[in-house]
Amino acid sequence: MKFFENRVCRVATLHRKEEAIRPPFESILGLKTIDFRIDTDQFGTFSRVIERKLSPVFCAKEKCLTALKALPQECARDFLVASEGSFGPHPLIPFARCGQEILYFMNSDLNYELVMSEIFLNINFFGGAFLNMREIEVILDDWKFPSHALVVRPNLWNRDSLLFNGVSSLAELESCFETCKKISSDSKVWIETDMRAHQNPTRMQTIGQLAEKLAHRLTSLCPACNTPGWGVVRQIPGLCCSECGCATDLIEFLEFGCCKCKYLEKKLRDDRKNIADPQFCPFCNP
Ligand SMILES: [Zn+2]
Ligand SMILES: [Zn+2]
Repeated sequence: MKFFENRVCRVATLHRKEEAIRPPFESILGLKTIDFRIDTDQFGTFSRVIERKLSPVFCAKEKCLTALKALPQECARDFLVASEGSFGPHPLIPFARCGQEILYFMNSDLNYELVMSEIFLNINFFGGAFLNMREIEVILDDWKFPSHALVVRPNLWNRDSLLFNGVSSLAELESCFETCKKISSDSKVWIETDMRAHQNPTRMQTIGQLAEKLAHRLTSLCPACNTPGWGVVRQIPGLCCSECGCATDLIEFLEFGCCKCKYLEKKLRDDRKNIADPQFCPFCNP
């Protein structure tokens, strides 16, 4: 794409996320993408050794701004991208767990920013307390070990006590287990999947999928100012019931916006649907 020709994007990361972001950025946008190592652990770690205090979006933004400050002056025109993930119970599906990935993409020279996020059900995210290695051996396949690394620590734990991460061989797991068991106050050892991207290929893959979505979004230009990243910024509910004509909670319009200027456009839904089935109506089907 002409806009990105001869430009560089730096991935502010400690955990090799450029490996996931580079392929779609280079093939779809022609934007040369390289890593810029910064200590992202300062913003919080999955193992909770350092607590994350910022929201995920601000955390990703802060990573980009930290990289920007550390870059030499001649790189001030470069694009920056950083990612942040959160894992936990699914907001809508009972008992399901999910991951939310966020990509924050910016260019301070162009005064430009774009955030993409997505919920993924395809995650490798587990944890539990164990008394002996036999209990652990039966879950290792489900937890995709050893292709996905583990975090091992005493069950009852505070920020200053022992913790091993990136554990990726059975011998290492056994030795970490024994060490933690010896000092564990309830004799149990807590084991969880290491959620850092370079230790969790499933997560690396979902970051790649989101990077591809971001790259496609960047191929559409704002009709008013030609800036890349034109796309849906808001979904407006209110699709009318076919029976009584009342507004339902279903999406009626999509609002498209630009990441640089204030230009907005309201468009019909992708499926062009302009009436709602009465089953979604608060009056016909309360
Ligand atoms: Zn109705
Ligand atoms: Zn615009």
